[in-house]
Amino acid sequence: MRAAVVPELSGPFGIEELEIDDPGPGEALVKVIATGLCHTDVITRDGDLPMPFPGVLGHEGAGEVVAVGDGVDAVVPGDRVVLGWPSCGGCRNCRDGEPRYCARIGEAVAGGARLLGPRAGQPALRRPDGSAVHSHFFGQSSLATHALTWADWLVVVPEAAPLELLGPLACGISTGAGAVLHTARPGIGDKLVIFGVGAVGLSAVMAARLTPATTIIAVDRYPDRLRLAEELGATHTVDATERDAVAEVHRICGGTADHALECTGVIDVVRQAADTVGLRGTCVLIGGAPAGAEFSLDHLSTLWGKRIVGTLGGSGRSEVLIGGLVELHAQGRFPFDRLIRHYALSDLDSAIADSRRGETVKPVLHMPH
Ligand SMILES: [Zn+2]
Ligand SMILES: [Zn+2]
Repeated sequence: MRAAVVPELSGPFGIEELEIDDPGPGEALVKVIATGLCHTDVITRDGDLPMPFPGVLGHEGAGEVVAVGDGVDAVVPGDRVVLGWPSCGGCRNCRDGEPRYCARIGEAVAGGARLLGPRAGQPALRRPDGSAVHSHFFGQSSLATHALTWADWLVVVPEAAPLELLGPLACGISTGAGAVLHTARPGIGDKLVIFGVGAVGLSAVMAARLTPATTIIAVDRYPDRLRLAEELGATHTVDATERDAVAEVHRICGGTADHALECTGVIDVVRQAADTVGLRGTCVLIGGAPAGAEFSLDHLSTLWGKRIVGTLGGSGRSEVLIGGLVELHAQGRFPFDRLIRHYALSDLDSAIADSRRGETVKPVLHMPH
C-alpha cells in the first residue's frame, strides 16, 4: 500500500510504501478510493491533537471493503463504504446513541493505534524495515490506498453512490449539516446565521434550507464563498471585511437571530456569534480553535435563556446521518459536490495551499491504485 506519511511533528507529508496488517477479529480492510482533506488533518500535523508520529492522517475516506476478519457481519468484501466515526460502543454516550461523544474519544481519534479488538493499542502500519507507523487516525488513517478499521464503524452506501465524492461525509460535511439538523433544529420562521462558510458552514447552509427556517444569513470574508452560499440557500450574506457582522445580522433580522452557528474557530467570532442571538437563542460552536483557547461572554444577556452548545462531527450516529445525506444528495436536495475540488494524492501540498487561500472549499484526494 501507499500512504501520505507525516514523519514527525510538523513534518512534510511524504508518499511512502508501507505494509498494512491483515484484518483481525472485528476488523475490515478498505481499499480507499478518495479522501477529503480537513483542517483537522493539517492542525494535527502541527500538534493540535496529540497524534504520535510517524503516522498517517486522513479521516474523510470512502472506498470498497476488500477483506474482513473473523466475526465480522456488518460488511462483506465488495461493499462500498464511507469510513465512519470511531467509538468504543460500550460507554454511556455510545449506548445512548451519541458515539461522537464516546468517553474514549481522545484515544479513538488520535491514539495512533487500534482502539478495539485483540490487537488494541497496536498500530496497523509498518515501514519496509519493520518499524511501526501510527495508524487509526479517527479510526481510519485514510490518506492512503488502504485503511484498516473496525468493521462496525463503516457506513455501507448504495452501489450507485459516487464514492469519489462521499469521503467528506465522514467529517466536514456531516459536521455542518448535523449542527443544524441535530443541534440547532430550527423551527418554522426561525432566523439563523452561519459564521464562516467553508465546507462546514456551507453544509450548514444547505441543511438549513432543508428546515423551515426562513432567514439564513451567511457571514464570511471571501466574496466567492458568500456567492456560493447564496446559490446553496442563504437568503442573505454579510461580508465581514466591510461591515460589523453583529449589527448587520441584527438589522437583517429586525432584532436578534434565533440560532448562530460558529464555524470559524476564531475566538473573536465566537463572541460575535453569541452576541447575534437573543432571548432563548442558541449559539452552536462548531469550528475548532487552537488547543487551550478560551472565550468570554456577556453574562447578563446569556441569562436570557441563551444556550451555548458545542458539537462534534454533527452528533448522532454515522449510519443515520451519512446515509440520509447520501440520499438527499441523490435527490438533488443536498448538492455538496459543489464544494469539492479533486486532486491526486501526490498533489496534497497544493490541496492544502489552495484551501488555505480560500480557493478550494473542500479538497478531495484520489488514491493511486
Ligand atoms: Zn464510547
Ligand atoms: Zn475533520
